[in-house]
Parts: sequence; structure tokens; C-alpha cells
Amino acid sequence: MEHYKYIKAQDSEVYDALIGEEERERTGIELIPSENYVSLAVREAEGSVLTNKYAEGYPGRRYYGGQQYTDVVETLAIERAKQLFNCAYANVQPLGGAAANVAMYFALMEPGDTVLGMDLSHGGHLTHGHPTTSINKVFNFVRYKMKDVDTGEIDYEHLRQMALKHKPKIILAGFSAYSRELDYAKFVAIAKEVGAYTVADVAHIAGLIAAGALRNPFDDGFDVMTTTTHKTLRGPRGGMILVRESEDLAKRINKTVFPGVQGGPHMHIIAAKAVAFGEALHPRFKIYAVQVLKNAKAMEQVFKAHNIRLLGGGTDNHLLLADVYGSLGITGAEAEAVLDEVGITLNKNMIADEPRTALDPSGIRFGTPAMTTRGMGEGEAAALAELMIRTLNAKDDPVEKAKIKAQVQQLCEQFPVPPAFV
Ligand SMILES: *Cc1c(COP(=O)(O)O)cnc(C)c1O
Repeated sequence: MEHYKYIKAQDSEVYDALIGEEERERTGIELIPSENYVSLAVREAEGSVLTNKYAEGYPGRRYYGGQQYTDVVETLAIERAKQLFNCAYANVQPLGGAAANVAMYFALMEPGDTVLGMDLSHGGHLTHGHPTTSINKVFNFVRYKMKDVDTGEIDYEHLRQMALKHKPKIILAGFSAYSRELDYAKFVAIAKEVGAYTVADVAHIAGLIAAGALRNPFDDGFDVMTTTTHKTLRGPRGGMILVRESEDLAKRINKTVFPGVQGGPHMHIIAAKAVAFGEALHPRFKIYAVQVLKNAKAMEQVFKAHNIRLLGGGTDNHLLLADVYGSLGITGAEAEAVLDEVGITLNKNMIADEPRTALDPSGIRFGTPAMTTRGMGEGEAAALAELMIRTLNAKDDPVEKAKIKAQVQQLCEQFPVPPAFV
């Protein structure tokens, strides 16, 4: 493949950064659970001529002419999304997961209305009403938590009491740092009692749901799902909103996405979503999704064997949260930095009811989607977990770190990126 021929000829500064990033991705192990490697086909679509086109509106109802091909790709993305998630409506225009959530909130609520969502230190996401977000000024956010942080079980009775007390318009399920499966039916039953909509923000686990490896909240009667398209779903950076069956909700969501909160859709990204959803419908995607879970389990077993505390007691999905400060006396920020030194990328993370600070918390969060896309299996996952733990114990040992780094490099060479899909 000829690399960035035109950028190389006209812009050496950007060219150097792109080549540097390629090198970084090739020579490091990516364990950030929200990241992945898209296929070259997805990247071709992202780099396509559709970036030139304004297509405000929806297929068949646009504000500009010349929509023969935009309508084709957006309709393909919509139809494939509906098939993947077994639902009646899909809006594929949100620019990201945060944008999808903003549109969803405005579509389902009036300013001042209440959302009952997961406590942020128990795994909820910034976009679920963190005090620093703008959306927090518009809507009222109240919280539920885990009953027991060492099993990860949600406190459904507390959730119900909060729902009865606060009468939320939305009960929100979904996380960016939670490793257990949810009892979606319980959310639906509580929402029915108080007349709330059920929304699942499946940004992290969408690919696993699409593949049937994790439970689909729509099967338990959830009203709406929001998601990113670039995490486990392995598509371009973007968002999406899905509606199980209500035409009324779907219409409100469409109007809120455009013209409510967005302008022209990014048609090149929508084309890439269509390509990625096509990949996700392929049997090979199911194999990937199942392997993501197996690899996470393999890592869990190694961490447990070393008596390192895992939040939630382990994992049912693609990610793990380890209390490295409590178990090894190394802070989350120190762990992130020393793992970076040996070529393993992950992020520091707050643990439930964090005793330390957000900038230097007790935990690390890591996951298996990217390494699985690269072709690694349980053997490599377990080996990586051993290397991670060795690294955490070798913070001040340059010789040991150099040895580990060499082993990481070997793994990287065995499993090149970007992987071709077909
Ligand atoms: C990643 C994530 C988002 C935000 O997605 P962006 O594309 O970064 O805006 C929203 N909700 C959850 C649960 C997430 O994990």
C-alpha cells in the first residue's frame, strides 16, 4: 500500500505525525477498552469523496440536491443497524456517543426533567450528567450504585426507591467502566412502575450485543439504545441512536438529531458505518466478539491468581478494573505510566467510591477488543496479563522493564495491524 502519497508530497508535518501514529499502533499493545482497529475497508470509506457532500435531512427528505448516493449509503447503514440490533428504527447521524446522548436527552425530556443513571464512580459515563458537562445544567441527574462492589451487582432495590422518589423521565443503564452483565428486565419493570423511558447506553458493548455475545436490552423491552460505533462495534468514530418499536420516539429522535442539535451529517462516516455494520453481520464478527470475552476471562484468571482485587469481582464483558493501589501499592497514574514504558497502553481509572483523586486514582481499566481484533487469543491474553503484573512490580527496575518491553515487541510482530477483515 502506498502510504499517504499526497500528504507526503504536500505536508510533511502532518505526514510525520501519521507515520508516527502508525508506528505507535504497530509496536504497542492497545488495552484501552474503548479502542479498536478498524478494517482498511472502513478506512477507505472514511477517506472517501462523500466528505464533500452536504446532506441535511434524511434519506428521501434532504434540503440539498444531488443525493443519489448519500441516500444509498445512509439507507444501508440504517437497515444494517436495525438488523444487527433487532429494532425498528435507527438514526446513524450522531457524530459520537456524547452527541447521541445529548440528542436522546432532548428528544425524551423537557429541561428540568430527571434522569436516573449509574453513579459515575461506579462506572457511569461523563455524558450521564457529570457536573462538568453542559447537559448537567439542563437536566437533573440522580444516581443508583452497585450493592456490592466486589460482586458488581446493581442495587436494584435502591434503584427502585430512587425511581419512586424522583420520578425520572429516563432510567439509564450503561457504562464505560463496569464489567458485569445487567439485569435489563429489572430496569424495565421499575421503569414501568414510574412511567419512565428505559435507555441503554451501550457505547462500550455494542459490538458484543450485535454479535449476540452479550444480552440485547431490546429483548427485555428497553425503549432506546444509544451507542458509539467505534468501540467494540469496530466502525468509524461516531454515534447512533436505536429505537425498539415506537415510531413516535423515532420521529422525535430524528428531529432532535437534525435540526435539533446537529447540522449536516458526515456522509463519509455514515458510509464507513455501513461498511462496519456489514462486517458485523458477517459470521467472523461473532467469532471476534466471543473471543473478546474469552480473552477478558483469561486476563481475569491471571489477575485473580495473583490476588489482585478486581472491581465487580471479575468480568462478564470485555473489560476489567483492577484496584492496583489497594493490591500492589502502585497508584493508577503510576501504573499507566510504567505500562506505557513497556509498550502496553491502558488508562488509570477511579474505582467505586474512590478514596484517592480522579487524577491519580486507585485503579486501572483495561480490555481486550483491540488485541482480539489483532488476532490474539487466550494464550496471548494470559501472557499479557502476566507481563502487566510483572511490570507493575518492576516500577523501579530498568533491566526487568527492558526484558518485558522486548517480549511485548515480539507479540506485536506476531500480530500485525491493521488486520484485513476478509
Ligand atoms: C465512550 C462513551 C460515550 C461517548 O462517546 P464519544 O464518541 O466519545 O462521544 C458515551 N457513553 C458511554 C457509556 C461511553 O462509554
